[in-house]
Amino acid sequence: MASPTEFGLFIGGKWTMPPHARRFETINPTNRESVGSFVSGTADDARAAVAAAQAAFRGWRDTPAPKRGEILLEAARRMKQQKGTLGRIVTQEMGKVLSEGLGDVQEAIDFLEYMAGEGRRLFGETVPSELRNKFCMTVRQPKGVVVCITPWNFPTAIPNWKMAAALISGNTVVFKPASATSRCGAEVVRIYEEAGLPPGVVNLVTGSGGVVGNALVEDPHVRTVSFTGGVAAGRDVYVRGAQGLKMVHLELGGKNPVILMDDADLSLALDGVLFGAFGTAGQRCTATSRLIVQAKVYDEFLGKLTDRLDRFRVGDPLDPATGMGPVASSDQETKILEYIEIGRSEATLRYGGHKLTGGAYDRGYFLEPTIFETRHGTRISKEEIFGPVLSVIRVADYDEAVRVANDVEYGLSSAIYTRDVNRAFRAIRDLEAGITYVNAPTIGAEVQLPFGGIKHTGNGGREAGSAAIEEFTEIKSVFIDFSSKLQKAQIDSETAA
Ligand code: NAP
Repeated sequence: MASPTEFGLFIGGKWTMPPHARRFETINPTNRESVGSFVSGTADDARAAVAAAQAAFRGWRDTPAPKRGEILLEAARRMKQQKGTLGRIVTQEMGKVLSEGLGDVQEAIDFLEYMAGEGRRLFGETVPSELRNKFCMTVRQPKGVVVCITPWNFPTAIPNWKMAAALISGNTVVFKPASATSRCGAEVVRIYEEAGLPPGVVNLVTGSGGVVGNALVEDPHVRTVSFTGGVAAGRDVYVRGAQGLKMVHLELGGKNPVILMDDADLSLALDGVLFGAFGTAGQRCTATSRLIVQAKVYDEFLGKLTDRLDRFRVGDPLDPATGMGPVASSDQETKILEYIEIGRSEATLRYGGHKLTGGAYDRGYFLEPTIFETRHGTRISKEEIFGPVLSVIRVADYDEAVRVANDVEYGLSSAIYTRDVNRAFRAIRDLEAGITYVNAPTIGAEVQLPFGGIKHTGNGGREAGSAAIEEFTEIKSVFIDFSSKLQKAQIDSETAA
């Protein structure tokens, strides 16, 4: 690294600054100041990083998993020490309020600690043999070189979800962070380096998805790709990976509903909906983007919600009084404003709907929290907006609520507010989603449970929890015959009977 804000690539344990490389900057969405300068990696850089990861693989694979865990634990310890600084960098680079920036880093710490412990588990199975004097078991083996491609909205948590699970399993990694949050990505890698990861075990290549991402996904030495992002890029990565018969793990978008039944605790739901819809300016894959409300409490709840928004502050995300910072970039702002226009044409604007201007707002990308009242089936009620825009839909009863909740292409998170325990359990069964909350909003995952979705949200894998290990290991079945003679399965056991 040449200066704290000028970063190179990290390949084979060295920060390299290709002298004639093109560079790009990341921009603070609060004031458009530069947060860091990065190398626009090339396809050759990507291939060099894969080669470094491949060279490091044997040594890392043969390092006992508990020892690998000690390095992850050291990374967690360093991240804890630097949590304040890192949380501010998250806030500066992507705009979420500081408490959420710190939460992002805390999630990374939690997962590093969790995975460090996993180094003493990595369970296989032992099962009985059908033959005498024969032993049957499975062992987990790493896959080899793993590519991790991540989005900008959880710029320290998601890279650690992927890398910590890949590393404890014995894989080596090439990491391509979202371009918009390259600084956060580089800081995470710096901490891994300081924690003592051997050279080549983690490599960082910054640069565009179309160049670096494609080259990584297509490299024949890469066995597994772990991708989190939007459906369009995810589909592209899936198709490219399929050409090389790679394992491609996708975590994609969401259109997450909160169902509010008429027996709900409305003040509890109010806090939850506000946090779920407008936390991180609605730029969470699990954000509450649809509020499905039973008719009897519809008017009362919407009135309370808009009253609360009157007191909700949008502004500097480093100021503790701020409820919502800017959206993450100019592109985000443009896309969200386009959806707000679509909403105006097909639904009733109930709150907000504008870009904020004047004073400090003019320096960044600030939008009003926005609420539309809509029927189910409009574009704003079905497509992922990924911004502070909530669609509210009135329904008659539980059955209609579930029908509406499920009638979207995504299936990530879901929630129901009700005091009826029977209905809560029906919702757990009926909602088509990888995650269901009862009496809590659609956000708030904890690292010890699997995270992921169904339908177009993903392709069946899960991050976090011990399920993450499945993504990064192959299972080998092992048969040990200690009978000192040839025993034939299916044949000898038949004869013996
Ligand atoms: P994105 O545009 O799809 O980008 C995600 C990552 O993929 C970035 O690193 C991007 O690089 C890279 N990329 C883009 N095109 C690529 C290609 N053709 N080949 C390889 N890599 C490519 O998504 P985003 O805007 O960063 O993130 C928002 C999306 O992520 C939302 O849809 C959200 O729901 C989803 N998300 C899902 C989860 C989940 O766990 N399900 C969690 C968080 C976010 P560049 O930055 O250089 O373009």
